[in-house]
Formats: sequence, C-alpha cells, structure tokens
Amino acid sequence: MIKIEYPDKFVEEYYYSIVTKNKNVNEIKLSQTKVTKINKVLKRIKFKGGTLDLEKLITADFDELIELVRLFENEFCNEFKDKVKMKNIGNEQYIDYLFESRLNDNILPVFLSDSKIKTKILNDMKNEWNSILSESNSIVYEVDSIRKKISNFFMSKSDIINLKTCYYCNIDFINSFVSKGENKNHFTLDHFFPKEKFPYLSISLFNLVPCCSPCNTKFKGKKTFKFDKELFSLSPSSKFYQVDNELFFNLYFNISGQNLEEKLKKVISNNDFEIKLENCSKMIGNYSFIDFFKLEGRYDFHKNEALKMINKRKIYSDSQIKELSDLFIQKGIAKDEEAIKKDLFGTSIFNEDEKNEPFAKYKKDIAKQLGLI
Ligand SMILES: [Zn+2]
Repeated sequence: MIKIEYPDKFVEEYYYSIVTKNKNVNEIKLSQTKVTKINKVLKRIKFKGGTLDLEKLITADFDELIELVRLFENEFCNEFKDKVKMKNIGNEQYIDYLFESRLNDNILPVFLSDSKIKTKILNDMKNEWNSILSESNSIVYEVDSIRKKISNFFMSKSDIINLKTCYYCNIDFINSFVSKGENKNHFTLDHFFPKEKFPYLSISLFNLVPCCSPCNTKFKGKKTFKFDKELFSLSPSSKFYQVDNELFFNLYFNISGQNLEEKLKKVISNNDFEIKLENCSKMIGNYSFIDFFKLEGRYDFHKNEALKMINKRKIYSDSQIKELSDLFIQKGIAKDEEAIKKDLFGTSIFNEDEKNEPFAKYKKDIAKQLGLI
C-alpha cells in the first residue's frame, strides 16, 4: 500500500550490482561476455525505436515491463508453441488454450483431466522457453549468486530508500539488521510478475517489490493480477500506482450519538466500531489487491491500533489540546497544537514522507475521521 520511490542513480547502481562494469575485472557478477551472449537473443525484440538489450530489460520502468511482456509473448510464444504441440500430439486444443491464458490465470483451461499430461506439457513449455533464451540460466533470479547480489544490494541501500515496512501490506517490518558482523534482513523480494511464468523479468528492478514474507510467500505466491490496463496502478513500483489513494480505511460506529465527540465517549471496546477497508474507485484490480494480500482480515486483527487512537482522542479533544498548548506557551515552551498532536498520536500520521512506518496509512485514514488532520 506504499508507492516505491527510488532515488536518482539507484537504477544504474542496481544494474551494476549485477553486471560487471569493467571487461577485465573478474567479479562474481554477470561478465560482459555473458551480457553480449544474452543480448544476441534479446536483440530480436524491437523496443523503443531500437532493439532490446539486457540493460534495458533490467532497468525498464514498470510500464515498460508491461510492454515487454507483450513483446516477449508475441516474439517467442508462437515459436515454441509449435514445438510443444509436436511433443504432445492429441492435446493441441489444450495447448492453444494454455498459451492464450498465459497472461491470465483466471481463464486457465480445466478440460484436460489427466494431471500427468498437464504437468508434462507445462514442463515442455518451460524447457522450450529455456532453449530459446539460451543464456536464461544466467539471468534468472534462482541463480544463487544473482539472488545474493540483489538481496545484498537492497540491504546496502536500506537506509537510503528507507526500507522499513512491507510495500504491499504496510503491517510488518522489512528492516535489515546486523548479526555477528553480518548483514541480515527481514524482507523478501516479490516478483510482481511471477518468475516462474515470466523468467525474463526475474531480475528487472521494477518487477521486484520489497515485502514481508507472509505477503510474498503465504498470500500472493504465484498469483498474477489480470493483464489489463489496471495493472499500471497496482504495482507499488509503478509511477502510476494508485492503490494507496483508492483504498480507504473507513471508521463506522456501532453506537449512536449527535456528533463525533458523543460517539467517542460511548466507545468502550473493539465491538463499538468497525473499520472497513473500502475501494473508493471500485476498480476491479483493487479488489484483487485486497484479496491477494488478505488485507481485511489482517487489519481486523490489529483493530486495537484504532481503539488506542480513539481512546486518546476521547481524552484529547481539540479544546483540551489547545489548553495544553496554552499551558506550554505560558511556561515558555514552544509547543503549538500541531506539535502536541504529534507527541500524542505519532508523527507518521502528520508527515507525508513517513509512509514507511507500519500502519501509517491505516492510522492516517482514521486520524482524518477523528478530526486530527
Ligand atoms: Zn506484507
């Protein structure tokens, strides 16, 4: 639920954390010789007025990744579809559907009941894919050395990019820490386009979303969002990301009262109010986002965070805060009402650039409804 914003030079530094800059240096990175070999395959694809190469593939923006998926699928799919058909004669119709549905899990064909044949066809597809991208073994995330390089790179930049809480759920911490002199981390890197299905995007920076382990492994897993125009606004790495603006935590009281103050006074427990995560734009993709990451249930478990805010607001109404501020000023301490609110409710509610604190959005949305901001 947080947009990823990388600082200047981050993208270039990322590329050179994987690929050697100098031809003669022998580092545990992709060598320039390997890059040349990979580029021989990639240059078959026309991209942005020229041809594709590894650097463009690794550093492409999120919207360029969507374009690349279309190009890759068109350029290579027909080529290996025929080969897979040859190996699985009699199941041509199934294979056609399988290829058509590559971009959308939800229309996966179900009419082939023999699971052994299904697995064989899927393996044949994977093998054909690998044979086309002959150097793909060097550029996929599964290669240990590459995975470590990428993870180390994110750890080394964690302060600069303020890697603090999961970009998907904004619930769990994803910090780095030092243990016995070694850098360790709490984060995983999710492949927005799953690496199993889109191996060619497995080390593309804007396909990686730093997130907590439950979001990556337990909840999203290999699920893919529907491949349509809404995709642009669903990945935190996209400059058109909108989920944080389109989802809102709405507070509803189960008790009656003339105004907010009266209702607040009557709140005793979690049962006296509801927090509903609502999709303001009604965009279908946003519902998938909520569903993939099980956001409703996970936030509901943390309803106490809202109760704490409500209980504080019960005591510290606007007039109370003003009185406190006047007292401080009388004593010569410069604390205006804004500063007192920050002390009481935490700075992340009021500061735009503190999005990376756990529950920042949840608390901000509720704070608005409690008249704090
Ligand atoms: Zn998460």
